Amino acid sequence: MSARRVSVAVPVALDRALTYAVPDDWEQPPAAGRRVLVPLGSRALVGVVRSEHDPSPPERLKEVLADLDDDQPTLTAELLTLCEWLADYYVAPVGEAYRLALPGLLGNADARTAHVTEEGRRALAFAGPLLSRGAAPLTAPARRVLEALIEAGPSGLPVARLSRLRPRVPLRLLSELQDQGLCTLAWADAEASPMRTESCFRRTDLLWGGAADEERLKQHIGRSKQRRAILDYLEGQRDAVDGTPDDDGWVPIGELRGPFPRARELLAPLVVAALVAQQERPRRLDPFATAPAPDRPQVPTEDQASALRTLTADVDTGEFRSALLHGITGSGKTEVYLQLIAHVRAKGRGAIVLVPEIALTPQLADRFRARFGDEVAVLHSGLTPHQRLDAWHQIRAGGRPIVIGARSAVFAPVPDLGVIVVDEEHDGSFKQEDGVRYHARDVALVRAKGLSIPVVLGSATPALETFALARQGRHRWLQLRSRPTPRPLPQVELVPLTVHRPDPASLLTGRMRDAVDEAVRRGGQAILFLNRRGFTTDLLCEDCGSRQQCPDCSAPSMTYHLSRHRMMCHLCGHIEAAPQQCRSCGSAKLVHGGVGTERVELALAKALPGLRVLRLDRDAARGRQLLQTLARFRAGQADVLVGTQMLSKGHDFPGVTLVGVLQGDHGLGLPDLRASERTFQLLTQVAGRAGRGAVAGRVLVQAWQVEHPAIVFASEHDYLGFAEDELPRREALGNPPAGHLALVRIHGTDAGAVEQRAKRLAAGLRPRMAQVRAAHPSDDPAAPPVVMMLGPLPSPIERINRRVRYQLLLRARQRGPLRWLLGELRPWLGVEGSGEGETMAIVDVDPQTML
Ligand code: ADP
Ligand code: ZN
Ligand code: ZN
Repeated sequence: MSARRVSVAVPVALDRALTYAVPDDWEQPPAAGRRVLVPLGSRALVGVVRSEHDPSPPERLKEVLADLDDDQPTLTAELLTLCEWLADYYVAPVGEAYRLALPGLLGNADARTAHVTEEGRRALAFAGPLLSRGAAPLTAPARRVLEALIEAGPSGLPVARLSRLRPRVPLRLLSELQDQGLCTLAWADAEASPMRTESCFRRTDLLWGGAADEERLKQHIGRSKQRRAILDYLEGQRDAVDGTPDDDGWVPIGELRGPFPRARELLAPLVVAALVAQQERPRRLDPFATAPAPDRPQVPTEDQASALRTLTADVDTGEFRSALLHGITGSGKTEVYLQLIAHVRAKGRGAIVLVPEIALTPQLADRFRARFGDEVAVLHSGLTPHQRLDAWHQIRAGGRPIVIGARSAVFAPVPDLGVIVVDEEHDGSFKQEDGVRYHARDVALVRAKGLSIPVVLGSATPALETFALARQGRHRWLQLRSRPTPRPLPQVELVPLTVHRPDPASLLTGRMRDAVDEAVRRGGQAILFLNRRGFTTDLLCEDCGSRQQCPDCSAPSMTYHLSRHRMMCHLCGHIEAAPQQCRSCGSAKLVHGGVGTERVELALAKALPGLRVLRLDRDAARGRQLLQTLARFRAGQADVLVGTQMLSKGHDFPGVTLVGVLQGDHGLGLPDLRASERTFQLLTQVAGRAGRGAVAGRVLVQAWQVEHPAIVFASEHDYLGFAEDELPRREALGNPPAGHLALVRIHGTDAGAVEQRAKRLAAGLRPRMAQVRAAHPSDDPAAPPVVMMLGPLPSPIERINRRVRYQLLLRARQRGPLRWLLGELRPWLGVEGSGEGETMAIVDVDPQTML
């Protein structure tokens, strides 16, 4: 009877899939990859049918409510296999892994629109026991649904609205009505909906002041950090950089949904309280929807030609191959991707290009669209859920064979995929840091292997994991050794802060100030880089010495923002008016310490009068503002751009002749095994921003530890030197790439419960560790064991958003034993306990951050 039941991946945090019975009147079970509506508790959820069966399902199974797909299953067999691998490798709930491959709307049964059919109208008109001609009479809830649908007219009613009817109508009732032919349920389609307007929101002038308004604001906002943050976001869109914000601060709901998925819900009480105004306004165009002028392939350099010969041959052989395309910034990697993809397209096949953050690098997308026009789908974070679904349909139908996007684009359903490119493969944004903690580069490799196609990993500063594999010959190592244009790499000068003291407000040393002055006087532009946002990073009490802390987090995470006189916590999003008095002793003598980008921006204008300064960080530039700031700087409307690491991404600024790093060793103090590598990458990337135009560039790096290898090698543009220096250190400790890590995190509001749970997990693992060690003895008695456990210990940041955090680090010489251990751990993960004592345990496989 196994054929009459199906295993369904349901998007809930369960460590397994659920098994459902197939209704008796269905001819056959729904095929793997189809979306089905299934009951779970009192809810009806959208799940995906898996290709496997649960070997021991409970005896009494609930029935599948409805099959939601039309002709083809939503997920292809290939993506199903990939999702199963993700759930297994990342020790993640199978339903959450499946959800990664579904566009948001398709996983949400409420996103459908219901229409009444003729049959439905008749059934309602003749409803009544006498006239029902043998058919079962309509129940009262069914009648209410049909009445509501008839009233809604030809545009139909969103299911979300129907499920708000009172008394409630269950989702399964809608499926039943559909099965009886009384109504239709369609997934909303962006193209079909003639919506020319969208809801926009704008911060009003009410309660927009300092501490005096704080109490009244809190009454409206309650304790919701998200609500406070969305209000702040809207304020940010009103006081744009130069005081003439575009659209007068109206922000469309689609833009808000990115950072705030529950935006409407959050905004409702704010609109009622008149803190936020709402208006229907004409829909704005997708900024990536207008096509740039077409361009032609460049004649490849010798290195490019040789890389292309290898890569096109890989495409032709129809085997899985992976290559590291290693070349300094400006060495022509993008041109190689473009010509490789042209080759793939000539064979009628498709391509996926993963980039760190598409919104930050519009020119890259432009170059692809200039070459391939409408064949390119750009999946960026500014798309509305409908636009995203629309793009997904176009991709799956083969209408957009080239997909460019950030991390999640690795799941794009491109038919007959021919190659996957991962640009800037070392970038931290490829790792998802919540939910399923996958690394898109590694998923790309696994997907490509399953499809027998090549992968190209491009970088100027490859992750050491990637480099180590290239050196072992497991990735091909293709190098672009010089720039195709006769532009030398910029010269990097180190400025020791121990010798040249920086101005406390601007952080500029005399040398840096002179360099900025000179660059600007010669008609160039400068970028100043500081990896700290805000005005100052500390507000200290002069009397008792205490730091004004975030009430909900343990680290000194609050920064002061002058423009809005706010303190903000970068860990949990807590925002409040800056205190007038010390919270510990009440003293009014609060002083600023630690300089952020906002302060540098203001101090610069004082240090060099007449200078036109722009700032780019998460506070100054969000959403569209970000693109505007970048465009204005590129157009020469400012002399200096001050910014955080957002600036280091692949922006191309032809006018920039000077790049200044204000504190190059800022990240070296972090308790993170990759601190050195990150610093090296960041400095190298930032330095690459200088001299991309006609004039040779200059780079000044201010730092305290000018002799640190990360800084010295970066200043010499010496990747290999850095790698040779750093790898032995990793080897000595068994850290990646010499070993493999998995971080078990435990958190909850009750410190005692968290610590207890962490200890229990460790106790459960210990005998299994002994088992693993016995099975993998080492020849060398001095060598460390195959698997080690460090902890349990409080995490370096012990508390975030009132939750206490513990961790347990597993470090292994070999992947196999580690994966076995994680498999043993799986059933113990997830939520445990309830109320205040509730704790959560998750695993982060191949963690990128240990904080
Ligand atoms: P990367 O992706 O490695 O940073 P790009 O592909 O962006 O490098 O190339 C840097 C610059 O050099 C671009 O302006 C590009 O148009 C130009 N370029 C690339 N390849 C060639 C070539 N073969 N001949 C001339 N110019 C080239
Ligand atoms: Zn004090
Ligand atoms: Zn906080």
